[in-house]
Amino acid sequence: MARAIIITGGNLDNVKARLRQAQQMINERLGVILRCSHMYESEAWGFTASDNFLNQAIELDTDLTPEELLQGVQAIEKELGRDRTAEAAIKAANGEAYSSRKIDIDILFYDDVVISTPELTIPHPLMHERDFVLAPLSEIAPSKIHPIFDKTVRELRGELHARQSMEK
Ligand code: AMP
Repeated sequence: MARAIIITGGNLDNVKARLRQAQQMINERLGVILRCSHMYESEAWGFTASDNFLNQAIELDTDLTPEELLQGVQAIEKELGRDRTAEAAIKAANGEAYSSRKIDIDILFYDDVVISTPELTIPHPLMHERDFVLAPLSEIAPSKIHPIFDKTVRELRGELHARQSMEK
């Protein structure tokens, strides 16, 4: 049994209901949910979008391997209407690296495991740069230590805010 933390998010078509559905599917199929953050609203990161994002961090106990967990979250994304082909077309048309989406589920932590393969990077490689990840994550796991940076989630968020205020 492993303890994983994942994050769900999206910004299109009644996201709140979809994130609730995702939460239920995660609990039914991927493991036992221990804690869920509130849903945090933020502006799109890395591209322009008219609809704000909602994100929720979820901690669960799971018997799945990291690769099985990835397959599981991707199956849920698909069932909840994620259309990667449409997203790719929008990204190409706008010349942007990201696009609006109905649902996105990323694995942030899997115990203290570090994985770097073409399909899967754990801990999630950009989590420490994104307040929309660190805000919900701080609510449910502020003392979780990032196995690469050897810092708590709370410390990583403090450092991100310090960097952001220097940039202003
Ligand atoms: P995205 O478009 O943000 O959902 O990224 C999806 C791709 O990221 C998939 O093809 C995954 O194989 C890959 N990926 C790598 N690391 C992770 C992770 N920690 N959680 C979810 N997807 C990941």
